[in-house]
Amino acid sequence: MENQFFSPRIIAWYQHNRRDLPWRHTRDPYKIWLSEVILQQTRVAQGMPYYLRFVEAYPTVFDLAAAPEQEVMRLWQGLGYYSRARNLHQTAQFIAQQRNGLFPDTFSSLLQLKGIGTYTAAAIASFAFDEPVAVVDGNVYRVLSRVFGIETDIASTAGQKEFWTLANTLIPPDQAAVFNQAMMEFGAIQCTPTSPDCLLCPLQAQCQANATGKVAALPVKSKKVKVKERFFNYFVVAQNGQLALKQRNTRDIWQQLYDFYLVESDAPLTSIDALDDATLRDILPQVIIEPPARAYTHVLTHQRIQAQFWVLHAPDTLLTLPSELQFFSHEAIEALPKPVLITAYWKERFL
Ligand code: SF4
Repeated sequence: MENQFFSPRIIAWYQHNRRDLPWRHTRDPYKIWLSEVILQQTRVAQGMPYYLRFVEAYPTVFDLAAAPEQEVMRLWQGLGYYSRARNLHQTAQFIAQQRNGLFPDTFSSLLQLKGIGTYTAAAIASFAFDEPVAVVDGNVYRVLSRVFGIETDIASTAGQKEFWTLANTLIPPDQAAVFNQAMMEFGAIQCTPTSPDCLLCPLQAQCQANATGKVAALPVKSKKVKVKERFFNYFVVAQNGQLALKQRNTRDIWQQLYDFYLVESDAPLTSIDALDDATLRDILPQVIIEPPARAYTHVLTHQRIQAQFWVLHAPDTLLTLPSELQFFSHEAIEALPKPVLITAYWKERFL
């Protein structure tokens, strides 16, 4: 395929088929950054309410910088990948305090910011500042690999370099923003992973994958993500209508979010006696134990968690709890940032 046909056709397709999304009406780098961070690993339909809530709560980078971290995490709750929310908050503070609210305006200077990688830097640089640098996300890999018949593994460093170089040779210097939007939109709604609309595709005649029957096989992605199985045994100490929770500070999933006392095991637990845990040994004789009603399964990208919850009904006089646990009323729990798994259990059992 001759490269010069590619960009005008993609852009023409975009002008007729684009969705009206709120972040496409702004050139404000702060709002573009917000939308890109929220939409990573997230479908537009799921990310949109989060974007609208963040923009309403924090209309400027100064508002986000001034917000308490717990409030930001609470607003982020349910999107997963919580380190993104922490980086977002810290970078907002850096921009507000060290740069007087001004975003860096080039791809290379944006890359220096915490939590901003190649993809987000390219998106902000092109959408806000018209810099001709290509955004290469999963959609773009798919479109390019199919149209140009490229079989290089997109998970390999060589593959990423090849696609990045190709995308940057295709970008029209004076239409960077619209070209990048067009590429991502084309991959999201025309050249989709499992049901691309090849019949009505403006690139059908030139598409190598269509010509060779390799549409379903492209892009090639070799690395399979290994999913780790984890077994969480939660102990919910209940006293006087309050529950004991703690903030997660270990280098693990859900950092800074709140959950209950947790003992992890290598396999599903059949009996509480099988746990050798000093804290539980102290607490269990003092409480009435309510066994789990059911198990909960929670799936993350690299982990599958099976969780069970024991409620430990404690008398008023109890009890020496580990210092990281604190009692909270249900009203206070509502306001805490919590993993979706904890919210689901808490609502089902206690509300
Ligand atoms: S012809 Fe099919 S596979 Fe090729 S670009 Fe169009 S939608 Fe994608």
